[in-house]
Amino acid sequence: MKKELIFLGPPACGKGTQTTMLAEHLHFPHIDTGSLLRAEIAANTDAGKEAKLYIDEGHLVPVTLVAKIIKNRLSQDDCKNGYILDGYPRSLEQADALTGINDSINGNQKTSFKAIYFDIDTDMLIERIVNRRSCPKCGEIYNLKSKAPKVDGICDKCGEKLTQRKDDTREIAQERFDTYFKETAPLIDYYKSRGVLKTINANGDISEVWERLLKAVND
Ligand code: AMP
Repeated sequence: MKKELIFLGPPACGKGTQTTMLAEHLHFPHIDTGSLLRAEIAANTDAGKEAKLYIDEGHLVPVTLVAKIIKNRLSQDDCKNGYILDGYPRSLEQADALTGINDSINGNQKTSFKAIYFDIDTDMLIERIVNRRSCPKCGEIYNLKSKAPKVDGICDKCGEKLTQRKDDTREIAQERFDTYFKETAPLIDYYKSRGVLKTINANGDISEVWERLLKAVND
């Protein structure tokens, strides 16, 4: 049966790290809309130019633009047994769009759909965001306070120079939280009422959260 897994949680709740690990574990593609949009910006496509206007302000990119990118990605062959969708949907409108996209791709194929919600205390998340650095080459994520690279500014894994995301400033982070609580948090009840929500406690270190995630996925 095809396994469709989507992930909900506030910015910097640890979803990126955990979903990357889960994708490796399950051999499913890890589809992260933030990264897909940043790739469009880096390639200077029309979609990227439009998305940048919203990302730089901490707002959601228009629903039709993201739906097109997601539909293209989910239609690819590597998604036929399952996928991990990180950062989509982020609004009720996007949740409806995803249902339509899945229906059009799946036809009569049997599927199991789960929304996994990372429940976390949000107090420390802005600090996590401003201290976040990442490797533009291999995608490894660091934190200057809790997971610093061995050599300052250099990726432990591949030696590339680490970068800070343009929207990881205090001001834009606050805007992203406001957007999350207004647009994305209602999805928790939306999926709960459909009986497909699994909530995990996302406080704690990476290995603790990983154990809880595996349990929720296998439940
Ligand atoms: P992230 O990498 O998940 O923190 O996303 C970075 C930014 O990309 C967000 O603040 C939004 O501007 C944009 N973005 C990512 N995913 C979506 C989505 N599903 N819908 C609209 N905008 C998105």
